Amino acid sequence: MNNHLKPKILLHICCAPCSASSVKVLKDLYDITFYWYNPNIWDFNEYEKRKDAAIKYAKELKVTFYEEKSFDYNYNNWKEQSLETCKLCYSLRLEKTILFAKLNNFDFFSTSLLSSPYQKHDLIKQTAENLSSKYLVNFLYADFRNFFYEGKNFLKQKGYYTQKYCACHKSYKERFKSE
Ligand code: SF4
Repeated sequence: MNNHLKPKILLHICCAPCSASSVKVLKDLYDITFYWYNPNIWDFNEYEKRKDAAIKYAKELKVTFYEEKSFDYNYNNWKEQSLETCKLCYSLRLEKTILFAKLNNFDFFSTSLLSSPYQKHDLIKQTAENLSSKYLVNFLYADFRNFFYEGKNFLKQKGYYTQKYCACHKSYKERFKSE
């Protein structure tokens, strides 16, 4: 990608398949950096699989991949804090994202969560807008859902890992009807 003089955007990515449609919309207009912060993913093996796919995609695109280093994966801690609601889950991840964007002088922040038709799109948008007002970092809103299946299938055909549930233990149980 030729990123000369493009505005810098920090794109929180929840997984490679969702980031594909975001990249399709943003790549010609913005200098993209991937930001990985997803402590909601259960279990650790799944966490690693999604992260590895995201790293692989970043390498393919030649975009910088930043993994949040202040975070040690400890799903049980996260679970015990009763953060297993989508509103808190979005806030947790997007607040960390915007703080990193502010500290590192990004022009915008956004999230690949806006790609999935399975997510609470309006709640994500509202959460990001509230954080933008609070921390004074521009939020780039776009409805990436239009390219979700195209992006997901594109990566699937290339052998990328694609998950079958949102991320948390609750969503896993709901998807597979297990304990
Ligand atoms: S369903 Fe998805 S968005 Fe909602 S709390 Fe679980 S991991 Fe987070």
